[in-house]
Amino acid sequence: MKTARRVCERDGCDELVADARGGRIPKYCSGRCRVAAHRARHAIPAELRERRRWVRRDEDKVPLMVKSGRRASSTAPGTWGTYADAVASRHGVGLGYVLRQGDGVVCIDLDHCLWGDRVSDWAQRILDRCPSTFVERSASGSGLHIWGRGEMPRGRRIRRDDGSAVEVYGTGRYIALGERWRSAPLQLADLTEVIDSLT
Ligand SMILES: [Zn+2]
Repeated sequence: MKTARRVCERDGCDELVADARGGRIPKYCSGRCRVAAHRARHAIPAELRERRRWVRRDEDKVPLMVKSGRRASSTAPGTWGTYADAVASRHGVGLGYVLRQGDGVVCIDLDHCLWGDRVSDWAQRILDRCPSTFVERSASGSGLHIWGRGEMPRGRRIRRDDGSAVEVYGTGRYIALGERWRSAPLQLADLTEVIDSLT
């Protein structure tokens, strides 16, 4: 009988994973690699972790307070919490980060730009213009968020011909976090030029 094999999916590990029970082949060679890969997928830059801007979110993307699970507001700092508390919280289904003017943190939201793991050409052109900065796949799985530094006192929405949109946010808005995109760097770069070039 042929034994199916593949390489462990954790970055940097090249162990072969064998099909042990004739069922699905595990993605990782070991529990250690599985845990390490999970951590890598959910890693977040320190510049975001260290700010008290965290909320939870429910399945309908409603922001929730980390400790009470009651509704949070992206304009009421008293309803935000720390990253550590947000990660430990069991309310809702995931994490959210609130953008606030003065922090100098911005997020470019590329809507509907992923087809599985394939990036649309228009989105790839924007990614290619970005300096080395944190990117994650949106919670919906079909978009990308490019995180960086900049000032964006008002949100900006650029509609594209195909019905998708590019939005840029810097305040009064929370972003539902998904998973780190590929091996995106855990740092925020200045996105001012890229944002200015979006038309
Ligand atoms: Zn491995």
